[in-house]
Amino acid sequence: MSDRYAREWNEFRRKNRTASLVLILGPLVVVLVALMSRTLIGDKASGLFIALMVGWALVWGWLAFRAVRHPCPRCGVAFLANQDAWVRRCGRCGLELYGEQRPSDSTWTQNRTS
Ligand SMILES: [Zn+2]
Repeated sequence: MSDRYAREWNEFRRKNRTASLVLILGPLVVVLVALMSRTLIGDKASGLFIALMVGWALVWGWLAFRAVRHPCPRCGVAFLANQDAWVRRCGRCGLELYGEQRPSDSTWTQNRTS
């Protein structure tokens, strides 16, 4: 796998992993903080709970948006937003998820800067 494709896919994995962790662990953390704060501040904890849940939803939405909009290493369009879901490949250029670079592949990042 070429270094550039490997870097792009590693970045894609990192974004997906971060969004997934925040999706799963975020509500647990919010509930734990709300329960602990309930013993400290009483009825005001429900307002804190709502504020924390809204904050979690905003953070997770932003992280998920970043993962969905991550560009395909070959053609540069958003990979997940344009993928063929059944075969997990780019809907524009056909690059498979975590696919390797072919010698004939154009490099959209080089084309963008020239
Ligand atoms: Zn593509």
